[in-house]
Amino acid sequence: MLSIDVYTCYAVSGAGSLVGLGLLAMVRTEQARVSYALGLFRWALLSLSVLLCVQLSPLNVRPEVLKGAIGFAGMGVALLAWAFRQLNGRRTHPVFGMVATLLVGLALWAGALWGSDQQYVRVIGAVFCLVSVGMAVDQGVITWRNGKFTGGDLTLLVAACEFALNWVILLYWAWTQSGPYPSHWLFMPEWLTPITGLSFALLPLAVSSVVFASVNDRLMQQLRARSLSDDLTGALSRRGLRELGERLVALQSTQASMLAVLMIDIDFFKDVNDRYGHAMGDDVLRHVTNSVRDHLREDALLARYGGEEFSVLLPVRSRLEAQSVAERVREIIELSPFETPTGEIRVTVSIGLSFHREDTTLEEDLARADACLYQAKNTGRNRVICGD
Ligand code: GH3
Ligand code: MG
Ligand code: MG
Repeated sequence: MLSIDVYTCYAVSGAGSLVGLGLLAMVRTEQARVSYALGLFRWALLSLSVLLCVQLSPLNVRPEVLKGAIGFAGMGVALLAWAFRQLNGRRTHPVFGMVATLLVGLALWAGALWGSDQQYVRVIGAVFCLVSVGMAVDQGVITWRNGKFTGGDLTLLVAACEFALNWVILLYWAWTQSGPYPSHWLFMPEWLTPITGLSFALLPLAVSSVVFASVNDRLMQQLRARSLSDDLTGALSRRGLRELGERLVALQSTQASMLAVLMIDIDFFKDVNDRYGHAMGDDVLRHVTNSVRDHLREDALLARYGGEEFSVLLPVRSRLEAQSVAERVREIIELSPFETPTGEIRVTVSIGLSFHREDTTLEEDLARADACLYQAKNTGRNRVICGD
């Protein structure tokens, strides 16, 4: 049986919190929600690090000093629960979070000051149980809601359940056993003490590395999303179209549907720039993008292919459906002018339409759609020309 000194675990937990604080100090994020969560994680780790200060101080022989630190540790765990909620985009009102955290600290300190030893271990059990079960349930809901069991979410869920289970057993033990109580106050069956001690000791480091990895992951996703999208309009970039388009083509070949390819070009756009200025021209480009996007289904891909030229990949059931979508897009642009304080700016678009074939590449499909677009331009503009 592993014999473990719980005081050492407390010290390791406090030291791990300081290392975690250092680790999280290096994390940078632009997202307000994530940086708010990071602030909470830092407060949580600071609260947990009090355990180390106590273990290092000459006062650590006094039981009330350790009890005081356990109050801070409780608040640290409550702050962790709040921070994870925040990181996962589940809003907690700051007043609620702060009041809950303070109540946890007050309950632990009140139990330490006025309770008998038995009442105190019960308070510890009840408080940690409440917070850690809350954290596990919360993580369960998040993992469930996301629908897909990603490695990160699942690891957190398992860790939160393990942590919660420790405290449930501790609470049960504190309620049914009458002591004697150890002076480190982790009152539980002997076989469980090393497991709880270790999970408590490793908690801050585990949390900081999970948070570090999660923020890093978000940053990567953000970078990737940026590299795949166009700055001005928010539509996909050419590169985005190529990457996501290939996936759509692969998906289409497993299904019985077709893939329509549209090339859309704004008519006489140079005149818009000349008359209203380049900045207004940019606004018109955004307006056209939004109008097209609003009239496409979620599974379609819209990209800005060039200056005032867009392409759309559209899963359809028939050629007729593709033609009617293209016609609707053309009509919508014609009928929805861009409103400015000095009046409306009306533009029209020409559209070339082609279809993906098993023996062609996406580039070839786009070239065929472009040839149709060229025809649409040459036969009067503001029209759809459908190819094969
Ligand atoms: P057509 O009907 O033959 O397509 O005529 P057009 O004037 O639309 O075509 P042309 O290719 O002659 O001109 C395209 C114009 O699009 C020229 C360029 O100034 C403008 N343009 C390209 N990219 C941008 C952009 O990002 N912002 C703005 N404001 N204008 C752009
Ligand atoms: Mg044009
Ligand atoms: Mg053009």
